[in-house]
This record gives sequence, C-alpha cells and structure tokens, in this order.
Amino acid sequence: MGYCSTLAVLGHSMVPPNLNSESKASSSYRKETISLLKQCRHINQIQSIHAKIVRNAHEQDPFILFELIRLSSIFNSIDYAYKIFQHTHNPNVYLYTALIDGFVSAGSYIDAIRLYNKMINDIVLPDKYVVTSVLKACRFGLAFSEGRQVHSQVLKLGLSSNRSVRLKLIEFYGKCGEFKDVIKLFDGMPERDDVVALTVMMTCYVEHGLVEKAVDVFNRVKVKDTVCWTAMIDGLVRNGEMSRALDVFREMQRENVRPNEVTVVCVLSACSQLGALELGRWVHSYMGKYGIKLNHFVGGALINMYSRCGDIDEAARVFQVMKEKNVITYNSIIAGLSMNGRSIEAIEMFREMIGRGLRPSNVTFVAVLNACSHGGLVDLGFEIFHSMRGDYGIEPLIEHYGCIVDLLGRVGRLEEAYDFIKSMNIPPDHIMLGALLSACKIHGNLQLGEQIAKTLLDCGNADSGTYILLSNAYASTGKWKEAAQMRVKMKEAGIQKEPGCSSIEVNNEIHEFILGAIRHPQREKIYKKLEELNQMLKLKGYSPSTEVVLHDIEDREKEWALAIHSERLAICYGLISTKPYTPLRVVKNLRVCNDCHTMIKLIAKITERKIVVRDRNRFHHFENGACSCGDYW
Ligand code: ZN
Ligand code: ZN
Repeated sequence: MGYCSTLAVLGHSMVPPNLNSESKASSSYRKETISLLKQCRHINQIQSIHAKIVRNAHEQDPFILFELIRLSSIFNSIDYAYKIFQHTHNPNVYLYTALIDGFVSAGSYIDAIRLYNKMINDIVLPDKYVVTSVLKACRFGLAFSEGRQVHSQVLKLGLSSNRSVRLKLIEFYGKCGEFKDVIKLFDGMPERDDVVALTVMMTCYVEHGLVEKAVDVFNRVKVKDTVCWTAMIDGLVRNGEMSRALDVFREMQRENVRPNEVTVVCVLSACSQLGALELGRWVHSYMGKYGIKLNHFVGGALINMYSRCGDIDEAARVFQVMKEKNVITYNSIIAGLSMNGRSIEAIEMFREMIGRGLRPSNVTFVAVLNACSHGGLVDLGFEIFHSMRGDYGIEPLIEHYGCIVDLLGRVGRLEEAYDFIKSMNIPPDHIMLGALLSACKIHGNLQLGEQIAKTLLDCGNADSGTYILLSNAYASTGKWKEAAQMRVKMKEAGIQKEPGCSSIEVNNEIHEFILGAIRHPQREKIYKKLEELNQMLKLKGYSPSTEVVLHDIEDREKEWALAIHSERLAICYGLISTKPYTPLRVVKNLRVCNDCHTMIKLIAKITERKIVVRDRNRFHHFENGACSCGDYW
C-alpha cells in the first residue's frame, strides 16, 4: 500500500499511522521521530528534530511532515510550518488541512482560504476535514463569497449530508448574518431536534443581537444539555440582559442540569454586573459539588464578582486560596482592591506580583494607577507611570494618562493636571477631560472647569455629563443664567440624561428602582421609610443642597426631586426588608450625586449599617458617617 492510500485509511490527523506495508527500518524511524516530536514543548526543539530529519533524508515522509506542520502551528510558529509545507513535494489533503488549521488558529484567515484555493487548483480532492477547516476560516474572516464557493463544492462532492460539514456551514452563514441560508441548512438536517445544531443557531442569533430569536430557538430544544443552557445564559449576558440570564440559570438548576466552568463564569459575570452577591455566593458554594476547579478562569471570575459586589474581603480570600495565580488573577485582585478604596493593599499586591517574576500588563498598570489615584499617592503614581516605559517597555495608553490626570485632579493639582494633558503625545479623550472637569468642580476651580468644558463642547464630545457638570458648576457659584443656558444647549443638542436606576439584592432577588417612578409593590412602605429618614436627618441639622437640580423648578419640587434619587429608594427598601445591621449593597448606573452621598453617610451612621454603593465610577463603602472614597469620586 502506498502512503497515499495509507493516509486515506487514517481518517483524520491524530490516528496512528497504519504501518503494515512499510519497510521495518523506515517505519520504526518514523515512529520514534513522531513520538519525539510529540514530547516537544518548544518550537526550538521541533526545529532541531526537523534538522536531523533533513540530514537523514526523511524530510518527505508525509506522517512526519504532518506532525511537524501541526506542532509548529500549535507552538505559534505558523511561518515555520509554512516553510516546511513549501518544501513538500505534492502535498496531500492532510498536509493542506494541517496548514489551513494552523492559519486559522493564527488568525490568518485569508492565507487559509488562499491555501485551500491552491489545493483546488493543484487538483487535490477536498475531503470533509479540509472543508470544515476552510469554512472556519471563511466564518472568522467573514469571507462570504469564498464561503459560498466552498458550499457549492460541498454540494458537488456530495459532502453536504455530513453533519459536521453542515454545522460548519450553519455557523458560517450565521456569522455572516444570512439567516435564510441558516434555516435552509437546518431544515435539511435529518435530526429535527439536533441540540448541537440548535445551539449553533442560538449562538448565531445572539452574535447579531437577535436575542428573542435565540430565545425562540432555545425554547424549541426538547432536551437541553449543559452547552445549550450555557449558550443561552452567555448570550443574554453578552446582550446586557443580566436578570434574564440569572432566570435562565435558575431554571437550569430546577431542571437539574449540571453547570460547567463556562456556565459558572457567565453566571458570575451577570452577578457582578447586577451586584447580585447572594446568588454569586451560592454559585461559589456549589462549585465543589459541580466538580468545578478554582483555576485562573473561574478564580478570576469569582474575584471580580466579589469585588464588584463590594465584598472585597471575600475576593481576597478567594485570591489567597487559589493555587495557581497568573497575571490575570493579580489584575483582578489589584483592580478589586483599588475600586474598593484599599489602595495600599492594591499596591502591595502589585509589588508581590512583580516579586514573583510576573510581568505586569497594560491592565495591571491601569489597576495600580487607579489605586494610587484613589489613595491620593501622587509620587508613587508618577513613579509607577514612568516605570511602564522605563522598566517594562510598555507605551502608556490613554487610560494610563487618564489615571495620572485623575491622580492630580483628586489632590487638587488642577493646573498641573491640565499641563500634563497638554504635554501628552496623544490627544486627550472626553473621559479624561470629563474627569478633570469633575475635579475642577469639587475643588471649586470654575475658571479651568469652564475652559475644559468648552473644549469638550467644541470638539463635539460633550455628553449629558459635561453639560450637567458645567451647569452645576455655574449653579454652585450662583451663576443661574449660565447654568440655565447649559441646560437649554443640552436640550438643543438632543442629549437626554440617562435615567438614574439603582438596584439592590434582597433575599436573592434583584429589585430595581428608577428615578421618579416607583412601581414597587411596597412603594407605600418605602415612601414612609424615606419620610422617616428625612425627618431624622432634619433633626440632625441636615438640609438637602439644591444645586444639583435644575434651578428653574420650585424649591419644594427640588427637594422632592432630590428625595427620590433611585439609590435612596433602593436603600429604603433595603432598610425595611432586611434585619438590623445587615449590610446593604446598591448598584447605581450613574454617578452618585453630592447630596445623596452626604445623605447616605448620615443614614449609615443613624441606622448603624454598612452601605455599599457601586456607582458608574467606583465603590462607596459608607460606614459610621464616612465614605471610603474620602468624598472624592
Ligand atoms: Zn442623588
Ligand atoms: Zn463615597
């Protein structure tokens, strides 16, 4: 049997070669070489074995060549794999497949498609394996017409009844958004409730933001497996539908389907975005039962969940018990500590990470610079910032510059911050300018604030926040006319203020409150509690500041508008529905206003509760009349 037909019975790649008809010597040489190749851990080892093969004149053995190409691409050396391929006489379909796969893994989709076309031109007959490989390239590379061509070849070759080819075609058309073709292919499948095919379809819809279509397909699946449930949860999370994602997860629990690692990570991500700490904890406690190991992937998700739900101590505990820690694990804990106002610990972690020989990434620097900023550690912040380029050869990005601007702004070195922006070799973005504008307001530097706000308006980058900040800055110094003008301009520019929305988790359920619209079944009780608190606060000499509200509404209305900022409603609901001393955790979509901030500090003191509020920018841990942010946020 010649090697071509030997290969034909091989099936695909990984099956050991059928060596019956080989000469004993060459067969054992091949066996030895392949086993040596499989032990390689680095491309250098592959290359030295390759050199020996060439010396021994075995460089045309197709089995060895196959392993060489496959392993070179696994070790990220696609160029080397290509070089080997180029020196191959009459490469067969398996060698083509190995290199096409390599190109796909390396993200060189065009090269993969080109190679496939070369194979067709060289009259090498495609099989189902090479077709699925090239379809992957067409999908990721969004090469629609090329994919269609492959499809027509599939039909001519009679491969269209093959299930995995069909699945790849569905994936390809789905990625390109050609749902008519997707449905046609699915309808042609023999199994009407093929769970894999249905899951592929769901994923396609989700990728195009067609969540409802995905849900329809999901509901059609009779026997849903873990992958199918997970795809639905993941799809909802990706499209920002966190509550629904958690509902699906609860349903999955009721159906007794065992979650896997990916499910757990998706659910934890939904929990962290919603601030659903109780559910997150519950998932954590059941991980052992599901046999899910605390690896980088899961550990990072747990640390994020706990830190973003404001339970930084538990995040730190997870970090401590993790056996394997990599850069991502450190990034998670440093960011968590930093956003929870534990700057010193964040910086210690950063040092520990470097001490362990791990190389900090861009993300690490954002996290640690944020810690410096939150802690007001100017000198250290600059030192770390300069070390990026100096010690690690990492060019700072706009986020890193932003941290420094934040750092200076926070301690009131506003002019210096402005000079720093002007000295940057990249143009500032609106986030950076917005942060400095906010600092100007806090430190009462209206002059610079105006200048910055105007820059933002001029470059058309003003969002509602800029207008509101500028308007508020005017209002706080009594410039009512200018403040009103800003509001008018904002309306003219057609910018609507995003409605404030806060959520709180009570007894495993998320309750949402929107500014000025209470639809909660317990609204009477909530209002009563709010009134009671207002009275208590008044007795303590607290009166709401009215600067944050439009100046042209009546004073009484102002107070009313302030009184129902959504975080207050959420806190009141928390107070009436939990036992005394239970900490409250609220997540708000906007920045907490000055007045609510003052009020929550007092509420925390009066009620002797810990109140954690996560707003758009950071965490506020309110306790005993003070906040962890030190009144800068
Ligand atoms: Zn407020
Ligand atoms: Zn605060």
